[in-house]
Amino acid sequence: MKTEVLRNLDLTAAVKALKRGSPVVFPTETVYGLGAPVFHADGVRKIFEIKGRPSDNPLIAHISSLEMAGQLSSHLKEDFYRLAAAFWPGPLAIVVQRRPEVPALVSAGLPTVAIRMPSHAVARRLIEEVGEPLVAPSANISGRPSPTTLSDSLEDLDGLVEFAIDGGPCSIGIESTVISLFHETPTLLRLGKITKEMLEEVLKRPISPPPVKGPAFSPGMKYRHYAPKAPIRLIYEQKQLKSPFILPTAKTLYAELRKADRAGLSEIQLYCAPAVLADTALMNRILRASGQIS
Ligand code: AMP
Ligand code: MG
Repeated sequence: MKTEVLRNLDLTAAVKALKRGSPVVFPTETVYGLGAPVFHADGVRKIFEIKGRPSDNPLIAHISSLEMAGQLSSHLKEDFYRLAAAFWPGPLAIVVQRRPEVPALVSAGLPTVAIRMPSHAVARRLIEEVGEPLVAPSANISGRPSPTTLSDSLEDLDGLVEFAIDGGPCSIGIESTVISLFHETPTLLRLGKITKEMLEEVLKRPISPPPVKGPAFSPGMKYRHYAPKAPIRLIYEQKQLKSPFILPTAKTLYAELRKADRAGLSEIQLYCAPAVLADTALMNRILRASGQIS
């Protein structure tokens, strides 16, 4: 299969491909996504196939309007609307009880579905034009660093998808925060740009931290993630650095890891400067990428 890159504002070909269940790479503000319409079970299945994603790792459904959330859940309560009003469009996925019509593969058999409204204009238009939510995990091969540019995505997926839309580099660069409203106490399932404190301020009560190891809480968290081919060595003191090394930000981490792999480094030195240590979401991805937490 030859991958055609769409660089202009005409999304017609991508919309047609999506509607017949052919997954499309598209930009969001967090990372590039590999999308399929949520109710197109065959398109959803192809996403898992293309990425080599384990089928017990659920997908986030992306919407372009609040009304669209009604296609996914009939149990949307006050907390959901509060979070939506405060953080959407933006890098927050909210887990709620799902409608029975949502294909089981989307939520890996869980009774829930994760919903997010991205802020990237191209992502929103694409969803709008398809007319239903798009499930979209990161547009990479499972386990590799997430793609934050189209060329990083095509490094993994060129020839595996019919269409890929170029929207420039992602402005955030790490995956969304995920919060679950399914249980009694709202629970933070994944850290992202939106912090626990920001969520608590909106919900006006404490939320639970991520479960340490969870039966069926957020299954995706158990897999090796974001990993380059070369091992990563974390360095905390400037004087121990030898060139070349990476001094990452949330926006550059994944691209730097891919660059290091392309350069054929046998070990990647990553400098955990004070500003890096202070960014909890960035540190979370660094520790995962380096295999220190799973
Ligand atoms: P990704 O699309 O790779 O960024 O991964 C989405 C992640 O969101 C999954 O790996 C889960 O950790 C989390 N997630 C998605 N859907 C659900 C759900 N229904 N319940 C709990 N966690 C979810
Ligand atoms: Mg991913």
